Amino acid sequence: METEETMQDSKETPLLAGIEAGGTKYVCAVATDPAEPLLETRFPTGEPQETIEHAVAFFRDATERYGPIRSMGIGTFGPADIQPMSPGYGSILTTPKRGWAGFNVVNALRDGLGLPVPIAFDTDVNAAVVGEAEYGAAKNHRFVAYITIGTGIGAAFLHDGQIVHGRMHPEVGHMVMPDFDSAYGKATNVCPFHDSCFEGRAAGPAIEARWEMPGNDIPDDHDAWELQATYLAAGCINLTAVWSPDMIILGGGVSQKAGLLDRVRRQFEKQAGDYWSLPPLEIYLQTPTLDQRAGIVGSLALAHRLL
Ligand code: ZN
Repeated sequence: METEETMQDSKETPLLAGIEAGGTKYVCAVATDPAEPLLETRFPTGEPQETIEHAVAFFRDATERYGPIRSMGIGTFGPADIQPMSPGYGSILTTPKRGWAGFNVVNALRDGLGLPVPIAFDTDVNAAVVGEAEYGAAKNHRFVAYITIGTGIGAAFLHDGQIVHGRMHPEVGHMVMPDFDSAYGKATNVCPFHDSCFEGRAAGPAIEARWEMPGNDIPDDHDAWELQATYLAAGCINLTAVWSPDMIILGGGVSQKAGLLDRVRRQFEKQAGDYWSLPPLEIYLQTPTLDQRAGIVGSLALAHRLL
């Protein structure tokens, strides 16, 4: 069952491969149009070797149906070595996830597929911002921030359409944050490194620690959400002040809370103090339109960018 290296008619509609390589599940897909995968599968992320074998089996099957894969994009859980010039490019770095620390995902896929296809390896949130910019809420915008709020807070930036990498991956979750807790008689910061940072105050575990119940169980009209919106708005204000994006997308599980986005917009208006001339906040601050699809669509879009 070796993969044939014939070119077939793929010059006109090159087959793209994408992997949303999450810490709990892998989503693999092939497509000619990233927004509409031809074939897709998802399975739990196990130990590295078996996970990659599972992915390779899927892509071999897809190749038999649709022809050779021309490029691949991977949006991975982290931390990961995403610097193309680094000798460890393609590796997962320090992680408590069994077997994954030091494992090179890109090399394992190349070896498994036996094909010298170009592979783009980036973080899951970077893939998501590319997906939203090309096919979702930020379509046609060049300067886009995507903040994901879940068990942690991360962010990705498109600067003039290109992913910002910097020396390390930007760590928006650890920007310094004022203490808004005290107004609510609380004092919760769960970050072990900082006295008061965005993630320590506003990620899912902070909400749970502060109100002694998971965010999912907190009613929509609870004070928790006004405080949460205050923190999220402050994060957006800081990004606006530093970097002046066209729009900010708030993704991740916490952002999906009913009514939260409207509260964030109101808080933003209050905290911004009428200083900036911005697009209407209904456009400037949004949730992702691809929802749970941003990762896989973005990974396919990363593959598309390689062609
Ligand atoms: Zn921190």
